[in-house]
Amino acid sequence: MALQRLTTPYGPPALRALREAVDRLQQGDPLAPVTVLVHSNAVGVAARRWLAANGGIAAAQFVTAFRFAELLGGQALAESGKRPVSTPVVDVAVRQVLAASSGIFQPIAQHQATITALRNTYRDLRHVSVPLRHRLGASGSARAREVVRLCADVHRTLQRDWYDEADLLHSAGRAAASAPCRTVVFLPQRLRPTEQALLDALAHHGEVLLLEGEHRLPAGVGLDVVDASDADEEAREAVRTVVAAVHDGTPLHRIGIVWSRNEPYARLVGEHLHAAGIPWNGRPGIALHERLAARLVLDLLRLDRRGIRRADLFALLAHVPARLADGTLVPRQRWERLSREAGLAGDADWADRLTAFSERTRARGQDHHQRDADAALQLQAFVADLRNQLGEPGAELPWQHWADLGHRFLHRWLGGHRGIATLPTDEFEAYTAVQAALDRLGRLDALAQPVTRVIFAHTLQSELDSAPGRVGRIGVGVHVGPLSFAVGQPFELLVVVGTCEGLLPAPPPPEALLGDADRALTDGALPINADLAAEQHRQLWAALAGTKRAVLLTPRGDLRATALRQPSRWIAELAHGMPTQARSVPSFAAGLADAAFPATLSQHRIRALTHAARSGQPVAEHPVMRSLQPLRLGVAMIAARALPLLTEYDGDLSGLSIDPLGDRPVSPTRLEAWVSCPHGWFMRYVLGLQPVEQPDEQMQITPRDRGTLVHAALDQFHRQVIDGLLPQPGPDGWGAQHLEALLAAFQEQAGQLEQEGATGRAAFWRSEQSRQRYELATWLQHDSVFVAGRHAQVIASEHRFGSGGTPPAVIELPDGTVVRLAGSVDRIDRCDDGTLVVTDHKTGGADSFRDITDTDPTAGGTKLQLPAYAAAAVAFAGAGAIPPVVAEYAFLGKADYKRVTSHIGESAWPKVYDALQHVLDGIRSGVFVARPEKSQFRLSFVPCEYCDPDHLGTAERWTQFERKLADPRVAGLLGEPGDATPAPTGHEETVDG
Ligand code: SF4
Repeated sequence: MALQRLTTPYGPPALRALREAVDRLQQGDPLAPVTVLVHSNAVGVAARRWLAANGGIAAAQFVTAFRFAELLGGQALAESGKRPVSTPVVDVAVRQVLAASSGIFQPIAQHQATITALRNTYRDLRHVSVPLRHRLGASGSARAREVVRLCADVHRTLQRDWYDEADLLHSAGRAAASAPCRTVVFLPQRLRPTEQALLDALAHHGEVLLLEGEHRLPAGVGLDVVDASDADEEAREAVRTVVAAVHDGTPLHRIGIVWSRNEPYARLVGEHLHAAGIPWNGRPGIALHERLAARLVLDLLRLDRRGIRRADLFALLAHVPARLADGTLVPRQRWERLSREAGLAGDADWADRLTAFSERTRARGQDHHQRDADAALQLQAFVADLRNQLGEPGAELPWQHWADLGHRFLHRWLGGHRGIATLPTDEFEAYTAVQAALDRLGRLDALAQPVTRVIFAHTLQSELDSAPGRVGRIGVGVHVGPLSFAVGQPFELLVVVGTCEGLLPAPPPPEALLGDADRALTDGALPINADLAAEQHRQLWAALAGTKRAVLLTPRGDLRATALRQPSRWIAELAHGMPTQARSVPSFAAGLADAAFPATLSQHRIRALTHAARSGQPVAEHPVMRSLQPLRLGVAMIAARALPLLTEYDGDLSGLSIDPLGDRPVSPTRLEAWVSCPHGWFMRYVLGLQPVEQPDEQMQITPRDRGTLVHAALDQFHRQVIDGLLPQPGPDGWGAQHLEALLAAFQEQAGQLEQEGATGRAAFWRSEQSRQRYELATWLQHDSVFVAGRHAQVIASEHRFGSGGTPPAVIELPDGTVVRLAGSVDRIDRCDDGTLVVTDHKTGGADSFRDITDTDPTAGGTKLQLPAYAAAAVAFAGAGAIPPVVAEYAFLGKADYKRVTSHIGESAWPKVYDALQHVLDGIRSGVFVARPEKSQFRLSFVPCEYCDPDHLGTAERWTQFERKLADPRVAGLLGEPGDATPAPTGHEETVDG
């Protein structure tokens, strides 16, 4: 007997040809057994259904070539004592062979990419005949020769105990005599030599009809070509197309959505079908290794690649519901906050820094401080336990050890039997698949030496990746998968996404091991790059031939790559051969508005509102709007913000009573903050919101911490002078021993700050310390001149007032309001003539201080520190005649060691009263307008995040602010933009202690 090749067009003619082939083989006996070999199970189901509906079918089995080979040849291999080889087993063999090799791969032998590439090539070569492999090994490139040699070694390692797909096909060929004697091969795709050999063997003992599809332009297909903005919009439009078709009566199982590339379409199509509640079957959007159980084990095994770092641990805890040993969920959010506050970043920080943080926090005394201190220690113990379980990163231990560790992690972190039982179905299935994979890997001890945790994790990942999986039942719901899935299936509607250059045809794959010249030596047994593009072309034609209507979707761009896309060249070929309708989905909004039938409830609502707006109806009156409170509020907010009036959506809280002073003394900087920006003041002091700082992202010490450090060093130095450990400045000011003491104080404080994790990366920190030492030394020289000229003695350092039991500085306003102020004066000096000098040290710029004068120490009502400190110094001096007070800001290097001085005498106080009154009235008015700066280029520093959390600028805020200035209350409080009012300090990089 012989193998007969018949050709048929794809689509309905192919099914009719199958009917004829089956009838011919059965020769009028419908119970005569026939085997139909198909290239996928989905094609088998579709073909069987079609035959059943078109003349009936009995005694026919529809199987893939691999399954058929398993049925036919598997038993013989099993009886010989061999087991089916799995991906991890091949990887182990490849790893061993590479490790023992001294060839060109030796430098990269440990790399997982090398293992993966060699494993895949090995599998391909297993289907190539021995003579052709020899030819490649003898005449190929140096790399190809080495690959053939290594693959032969891998085979020698495995062949005694394991069999693979090629072995199965050979074994099936040997058992062909016992196979059913009637076989139809229905629309085979690329037949590998081993498969061809099996067919030849079958033909030797029985009848084999090979029904090959013809590669020809499909005809009679209604074709729509649609371009959309990007892949996401394509998937959305694909689902809308499906919904519209179903609305017109097309059954779901007669619809397919296929793509040119899994990434990103598998995930996007799955997500949009899920959102629309449409059942589907096919390739899952979420791969097994992306499921909870897989991520949990893989991420934990790899957690300490660069040591256990705070960011990595909390990234893991964010998607895995980790548990403590007693089964309770870890308090992730609290731990995350505490670890940030403790300044943890790297692997070395968990021990000392967390202990120091816990002690500092506990010392603060209140109940919640105790709880935070306990939680910090609990986190420390959790990490220590994790470290203990993971062991040393380089430790080589048995496979079973790592598998057991994976099982333990799964069991404990997923909440034991009870927690696992509550997993959603998909996650539970993934959990059992991961468990099975761990079990398989645990058995590798019989084959391989102990391995490191990293190698175990790589091998587990390969094992999980090797099973792309499937969701749903074939024939139930929309059929979803790569383009090849649709070949041979009949559809009424087929949607193809990703029909663009770069995807269809795809560029040649990056060739790791065998190039085209080497592949050409195998006489077609291994495809060359051009074959792959031709195969895609054939698949597209074949898939379209099987459908009545097709929609080809093209992305105009790729937002991930910010690249423009061109429609596939094959669309033009199709358009020549059949009537084609082209349309465009201009945007996400237009896609929704013009959808024939929206896919989801929210799309329905948006479409209804858009149509109402287009027809001129007031959107706010629409029933959808009236029925949904979030929409109502959203519309009200947009309308209010567009008004030239301050509203409750812009910070108008004038109906509320807000006490600017409260029952405790307030700091002058708190009052200044309102002048800088009322909205920022509201966010910070009324709502209590603070931007979150990430210690891991901190490259350098922040301006705030730098200010704190300099103040702490100066304070330590000045206290030594006050306590007599160092002499007061003499006629020449400060001397060498003072400089030495100041730098020593700086060093001590810097070490403490480093302990707290607030100093950024080590390299930056080293140069920062040099800079600060230089600045302090230079500052001391400048200060020397002042103290010598004034004959001043230091009498107080960081003098606190209004807190910790110290009396506040009190300023009584003309209307009788008593303002009690709290704060800390950096330094108080007494001069020979009794004058007091209060000094505030500044590490930032001096621009916003330039308007300070003797008659206006508030710089136009924006600065309140100097008068407050002057009042505090007078109180410090005690009863008696009120001494004259000189108040000044002493700047460091950033402002060139400048001094801004004000003699706070009688003439100064009216301005101070005015300024304080203005602030108090402003806060009481409840007008918390945002006062942004004009948007400008900034390299990195964002001075205030309340309106600019994404660091993209405040241009929109500025426009809004200009509009709101039309409100007389706002204009009255702030003045016109661009007038003499100084810039808000919230937008300056000016930070002091
Ligand atoms: S970003 Fe600007 S406008 Fe917004 S709160 Fe901060 S300072 Fe005010």
